[in-house]
Amino acid sequence: MATFRQRALDEAASHKTGRYFAEDGPVSKYFGQNVLDLDKMRGYMSQQAYEAVLAAVKFGAKLDRSVSNEIASGMKAWAIEMGATHYTHLFHPLTDSTAEKHEAFISVKDGKAFEKFNGSALVQQEPDASSFPNGGLRNTFEARGYSAWDPSSPVFIMDGTLCIPSVFVSYTGEALDTKVPDLKSLQALSNAATSVANLFDEGVKAVKVNLGIEQEYFLVDEALYNARPDLMLCNRTVIGHTSAKDQQLEDHYFGAIPSRVSSFMKDFETEAYKLGILLQTRHNEVAPNQFECAPVFCEATKAIDQNMMLMILMQKVAEKHHLKVIFHEKPFDGVNGSGKHCNWSIMTDTGVNLLSPGSTPTKNLQFLSFYASVLRAVYRHHYLLMTSVATLSNSYRLGGHEAPPAVMSVFSGSTLYGVFQAIMNMKEIDVDASSQESIKIVNSIPEIFPDNTDRNRTSPFAFTGNRFEFRAVGSSQNVASAVYVVNSIVAESLNEFRAEVDALEAAGEDRSSAVMTVVRRFITQAKDIMFEGNGYSREWEEEASARGLRAVRNVPEAYEVYHEEATVDLFRNLGVLAPNEVEARFEILNETYVKKLQIEARVMGDMCLNHVIPAAVRYQNILIENVKGVKEIFGDTSLCAAEISTLKEISTYINNVSADVEALVEARKKANRIADIAERAKAYSHDVKDMMDKVRDSADHLEMLIDDETWPLPKYRELLFF
Ligand code: ADP
Ligand code: MG
Repeated sequence: MATFRQRALDEAASHKTGRYFAEDGPVSKYFGQNVLDLDKMRGYMSQQAYEAVLAAVKFGAKLDRSVSNEIASGMKAWAIEMGATHYTHLFHPLTDSTAEKHEAFISVKDGKAFEKFNGSALVQQEPDASSFPNGGLRNTFEARGYSAWDPSSPVFIMDGTLCIPSVFVSYTGEALDTKVPDLKSLQALSNAATSVANLFDEGVKAVKVNLGIEQEYFLVDEALYNARPDLMLCNRTVIGHTSAKDQQLEDHYFGAIPSRVSSFMKDFETEAYKLGILLQTRHNEVAPNQFECAPVFCEATKAIDQNMMLMILMQKVAEKHHLKVIFHEKPFDGVNGSGKHCNWSIMTDTGVNLLSPGSTPTKNLQFLSFYASVLRAVYRHHYLLMTSVATLSNSYRLGGHEAPPAVMSVFSGSTLYGVFQAIMNMKEIDVDASSQESIKIVNSIPEIFPDNTDRNRTSPFAFTGNRFEFRAVGSSQNVASAVYVVNSIVAESLNEFRAEVDALEAAGEDRSSAVMTVVRRFITQAKDIMFEGNGYSREWEEEASARGLRAVRNVPEAYEVYHEEATVDLFRNLGVLAPNEVEARFEILNETYVKKLQIEARVMGDMCLNHVIPAAVRYQNILIENVKGVKEIFGDTSLCAAEISTLKEISTYINNVSADVEALVEARKKANRIADIAERAKAYSHDVKDMMDKVRDSADHLEMLIDDETWPLPKYRELLFF
């Protein structure tokens, strides 16, 4: 057998199951030990400094320079006690990963060593950020990008380093990360939701978003991963024939967790607990070697930070287990891809979940107000919302018959759907009779109990009893870029909701009647986004298009939504992103798309020329020798019809692969000559991608024809089963 693959398989077989991060005692003993939460902070600084932090956390107050030194020195004291030697500002650049640059605490003055970390290092950092994507917002010669601690996320220790969750902005203040717009969208949503909640309860002062982020992933043995250039460089296989058995028997989902995986899970859970990440569920997913974990939901910023930390931490822990965690949305053709279901809900500072139906008419009216506003938001911006999860890697998954479809819709469940139908079918409310009538309909729905088991797994945006589950988010994505879109569109809708109610009230309608009128208006306007059936079906595709819903079929084409007035206005009016920041994001998205596809195409070309074709030629030669030998002995080749037929097939595919790789290189070069990045991305998405499909087809045929001993790359059946 090809020695490289054989060695990888031997090495993989030698990898043992074990625990490397086990802790004694109950989890509560070490939960959160590596996080400096508010409680612990109190012990490391004066009351005045602590209160400044508290105000920053609770009300977003700015941290005063006068206390930042003291806060920094408190953090340093704690970090050193915990054995940390370095600190880093951890931020979320526009690359869907996190970035960190470590600085040592150690300093020397007058020949004496001491640990130094002052306020200016905490609230402002100036990394040489010239190589982070900035979409033209920052010229390289003024490469300064500033990162500053976001007090809504506590600092923590990972790997002996004090990690400071930070925002990242340009010298002139534009957002260069996903966190800044996220924080702004949370503020906009809080304002809008509070004003609507005040229609029912004057006591509400703020509204926060809760997120529960389910993380799906694949695990692959490290040795096999290292033997696949595509996995190493692209996190997905660009060639590879499907395994005879993969997920057809549906025996993996919720099956027994393999012991090697279960040890890995327990280890990363232990490490996550120390960081205060409350992981709650773990299970097998649909595809072989695919798994999922989910924490208990918490406030949005924290949930997002924790998800990013979790991804880093899982990868670190996996090293010890000789595993690689694959977060890519579609690492393997033919089996399910991975998502990151984002459970989203909103809650008042008085502890009321605004998406939880209540048992009284008022509570129901409040619930309906918020639900209707979400519905209309999703309807109006359905294309933008779908585009918020459109990346190259997620595009391999979306629209397949296992993942959320490419077109947005909202699933409400039969009970609620019935309620909405009743509301819509109600006669026009005339002002006089209105209060009676609307109250009646509210009263006629004394209690709404959406059935939690009424789940529709084919819906990209499904209501699940007290929250919406945005299921189209990609597993490798930083959910922030999807979440600030959800927050923004809902904030816009709620602002309009309140304005319309106010207008009706000003015209003399009483409140509950006015609210009911607007609820009905919103639901009626948004009715086309509601869909209760099978989102994967062809009928829905047709129906959605008949309803005028736009599907994201091509990623760079979808990015054009960032040029639409409705999008630019949305972000500008709410103060989430200025038009130049939106434009920058548009550029970065296209640039990232091109670069990633370029890498994939190059890796594919290399693998075909350096792995596949040489292996095919070797086997071709074996067959040729064989045919020659048969002829020598028997005088003719009639006895080797099978070999000759295989030989012909192999020769044809070798020619195809070779010609198609050449065409792929040409397609790339041609696309590269297009100056406009958005147009270049489109050329890549059509010409380069189409050519890649062709190359893959021939390469995968060769895998089936060539002697297993000769094939150089670990096969799907080897990668996908422990
Ligand atoms: P399923 O796979 O059935 O969707 P999971 O238990 O895997 O369910 O994940 C559900 C996620 O939703 C968890 O992270 C959970 O904490 C979160 N969640 C539950 N209630 C809410 C809520 N009100 N708001 C936001 N997230 C929630
Ligand atoms: Mg789920």
